[in-house]
Amino acid sequence: MSLEPIAPGIDRWPMPEAGMNALVVADGGEALVVDPGTLPSRAGRLRTAIEARGDRIVGVVVTHAHWDHCFALAAFADVPSFAHPAAIAELRERGEQQRAAALGSASGETADALRHLTIALPTVQVETPHRLQIGALAVELEPIGHAHSRGDLVVHVPAAAATLAGDLVETAGDPQLDEQTDVGGWLRALDRLGAHGQPLLVPGHGDPCGRERLDHHRALLEAHLRSG
Ligand SMILES: [Zn+2]
Repeated sequence: MSLEPIAPGIDRWPMPEAGMNALVVADGGEALVVDPGTLPSRAGRLRTAIEARGDRIVGVVVTHAHWDHCFALAAFADVPSFAHPAAIAELRERGEQQRAAALGSASGETADALRHLTIALPTVQVETPHRLQIGALAVELEPIGHAHSRGDLVVHVPAAAATLAGDLVETAGDPQLDEQTDVGGWLRALDRLGAHGQPLLVPGHGDPCGRERLDHHRALLEAHLRSG
């Protein structure tokens, strides 16, 4: 596995679970990890690769509280970790339920690691837009709220013309809905991304895309609302 550049100052490191994009925003010797993935051991290898190129990890962002994005957070217990308050509540209240569900599709060493990992909670609640400085890069965390999950959050990196959208945007497949999804909230989130998002959208799974992908999602979600 290696860090794959996708925009100036932004690399991705796809994880085995559904090809989840662990992302790294870095500048001037500092790095921010966005979505550390499932297993702390794998996130540890990502961490080693970041540090080997001379970057110090200064924080972690969790875009939303789905296990494939955030169960590895324990590998970054020494730095602040940022998430929407509802995402932190989701992990606290339903983390074990998510672990049980994930174990249904895991086997061997992965299942073993999943069974034994500590589900760490993000340490900083992001209720209003929050600005971070990574080297000379301004990074804005924008809490979106209930949409794909109970508490989605996106990360804007204007200098890279990129928005890291978590699972609000998918290119590996269609948008994923579950019993926690708020379809109306998701449609409002797409409007927000269209208005405030950067031209390059980096999804939770799959390759970066442009804003035209939002129309694809809007059509599917509107059809879902009509059928529901
Ligand atoms: Zn998700």
